[in-house]
Amino acid sequence: MEKPRPVTASSNKAIALAAVVIIILLIPVRGDAAPLLRLGDYGDSVTQLQNMLLYAGFDPGPIDGIFGPRTQRATMNFQRSAGLVVDGIVGPLTWNALERVSGVSRGTGPLRGRTIVIDPGHGGPEPGAISYWGDKEKDFTLGIASKLRRYLEEQGAVVVMTRYGDYSPGSDWLPRPDELLARVSIANSRGADLFLSIHINAYPKDPSVSGVMGFYRAGSWESQQLAKTLATNVAASTGLRHIDNQVGPYYVLNNTYMPAALMEIGFMTNWNDVNLLRQDWFQDAVAKGLARGVREFLVR
Ligand SMILES: [Zn+2]
Repeated sequence: MEKPRPVTASSNKAIALAAVVIIILLIPVRGDAAPLLRLGDYGDSVTQLQNMLLYAGFDPGPIDGIFGPRTQRATMNFQRSAGLVVDGIVGPLTWNALERVSGVSRGTGPLRGRTIVIDPGHGGPEPGAISYWGDKEKDFTLGIASKLRRYLEEQGAVVVMTRYGDYSPGSDWLPRPDELLARVSIANSRGADLFLSIHINAYPKDPSVSGVMGFYRAGSWESQQLAKTLATNVAASTGLRHIDNQVGPYYVLNNTYMPAALMEIGFMTNWNDVNLLRQDWFQDAVAKGLARGVREFLVR
């Protein structure tokens, strides 16, 4: 995450001059009807872009309506953090992602000003655990995460997801990182207050095993409290048994900088759990429990 820096008059002038030069260079090829914003563009829509970047925590330089190098760099940093193609060009996907972030940030509520990263496990070519009946873990984790996002946003939080659909995080970055590294980068680059990874467990040895487990980073009292609070609340909201909380030797827990928990919600190997996870109301109950847990942990 970029920290706002003081802007001197001379760097202001230099940026404006550079932008003007670039604009002049680009005018012959850009045309008036260009639907995208890119380096060299200027006008009200660029001002709007700069305000949105600033609000999202990415310093675009002076809010001057000129798409200069600093606005381009902020755009690219934002794109990287949102899991978009990092090309510095503001197209529909980047606008959507910015609107999501800045629209949400304006909300009020107990979680206002907090940034929460939700990490739906697996995705794209990696289905995660597959039930005996063909259900994929990656679909359940995304379903729960999307509902949780809404509940957290309603409370004023800025929510960043490591993936918004069925793809592998970072798969559209250049160069393409490892997907676990992408999940961690998204959380760390946003300076998130909390990282919450959602998974569904599997225990083929005993299909009767059912329940919720919380995993936390070794040596982190805060992460331990987070996992405990989340598991307790999900058990309460769903009726699932709270099995226990454990140290989780997972990359996403060991490499994030903020309190982090990985929740295993139900078992892909248990028919009753799978049947519940298929139901919209149940995913909703899980999300409500997680949202309550997040609030309990952050607002003390
Ligand atoms: Zn998993």
